[in-house]
Amino acid sequence: MSFFNQPFTQKGFLRLPWQSKSFANGIHPEDHKELTERKPIRRMPFSNKIIVPLSQSIGAPAKPIVSKGQDVVRGEPIAEAGGFVSAPVHAPVTGTVAAVDELVSMPNGSKTPAILIDTWPSSDQTVRYLQPRDTSVMSADDLVKAVQDAGVVGLGGAAFPTHVKMKAPKGKTIKTLVANGCECEPYLTCDHRTMLEYTDNLLRGLQLAMVTSGAKKAIIGIEDNKMDAVEKIRQSIVARQLTNITCEAVPTCYPQGAEKMLLKSLLGLEVPAGGIPADIGCAVFNVGTLAQIGELVPQGRGLIERIVTVSGPGVSKPGNYIISLGTPLPFVLEQTGAIDNPGMIILGGPMMGMSIATRDIATTKGITGILVFTPEQLPNSHEPEMPCIGCRACVEACPMLLNPSMLGKLADVNRHQEMMDKFHLMNCFECGCCSNSCPANIPLTQKIRVAKQSIRQKARSAG
Ligand code: SF4
Ligand code: SF4
Repeated sequence: MSFFNQPFTQKGFLRLPWQSKSFANGIHPEDHKELTERKPIRRMPFSNKIIVPLSQSIGAPAKPIVSKGQDVVRGEPIAEAGGFVSAPVHAPVTGTVAAVDELVSMPNGSKTPAILIDTWPSSDQTVRYLQPRDTSVMSADDLVKAVQDAGVVGLGGAAFPTHVKMKAPKGKTIKTLVANGCECEPYLTCDHRTMLEYTDNLLRGLQLAMVTSGAKKAIIGIEDNKMDAVEKIRQSIVARQLTNITCEAVPTCYPQGAEKMLLKSLLGLEVPAGGIPADIGCAVFNVGTLAQIGELVPQGRGLIERIVTVSGPGVSKPGNYIISLGTPLPFVLEQTGAIDNPGMIILGGPMMGMSIATRDIATTKGITGILVFTPEQLPNSHEPEMPCIGCRACVEACPMLLNPSMLGKLADVNRHQEMMDKFHLMNCFECGCCSNSCPANIPLTQKIRVAKQSIRQKARSAG
């Protein structure tokens, strides 16, 4: 859709009265959530081949502890954490290890070692690798260790090993824990369905995170286009008499789900530039991550599957599916009726997700959505880049109050240092609002991303 046929509110020109209570700027893209938001979560069948990359989190890759030819049962650890900031991986299916350290493609185009498993066709795939425990008697340290042992990483797409965030960093105090249920990316509804269908797991995980972090209160923040989830959670909070947990609706506005934006909306607090939520006494967890903690830790189970939204105009069976980690992408596309020659496949949401060049990959812990577009219905205009007309739409859209137009111009002439020193380059979190708003089709976010990578590369070479 071009700039001129979108309502003005989508471009940030017209601010609605309640928006002043939220963060500054942002945009209102069409959300297309109607394709999947009312469809109950369904389990996808098991693929006969499973590909488990050893690097599924931001952190050190896991180290294999199985060998070729070995039989494994579903849920059994197959690779241990490679350090503190690392998460182990578990067998997503019962089967036989076909290869260890096989190099496979990752969504970003890199190669990483993986464990391949041939699924046993006759297995009922029941998880028998369980170590049930009473979490009410576990210490904070034991709970943190249990979260790491379960291989939990941020399921909102960040894939940061969750146990690292479960305790307050040294010298800091966590007063408020925030559960992020905004899911502001268009098309994605896996968190929405999780909040509706796994409410108890979510609240249990939240309570466990409160124990480990020491937070005295928690707030679940949800965009007001998901009021059914707000109501359901509020009812559960009352039924469980959880007086230290509240559920708040926040305005629907992209990127409300960015941690800094959500903290501003819920608490009126600003994370200092270059800082983290703990600097203002907060920790933020995605609701899907908390629901997994609430399910896995009491059972003593590993993370072997996740809920993924498969949607877009290029699939005939859009929905939210429980998909075993390591399921090859072609299998997912076949099961959901994807067209043969899509114009684009995006992993994650259309704003911050990644368009992939190869289908030769498998689902991993960080994949929230698989969006398939026909060549005619691509999410962003493929019209050629034109000169900047100085309309300031990008400035009006930027939630970090940056000047994307200027950043783009400086990026074109490789003045990266100036972008950083004078125009706060590193404050950009690549939300895509500026590119999405630009009538000249200037890929501002892409230019900024490349500049940030160049700055980081220079710092690594120097250091
Ligand atoms: S991508 Fe960066 S510069 Fe562009 S709107 Fe988002 S935060 Fe601002
Ligand atoms: S970069 Fe695009 S949105 Fe920003 S001022 Fe120029 S034309 Fe307008």
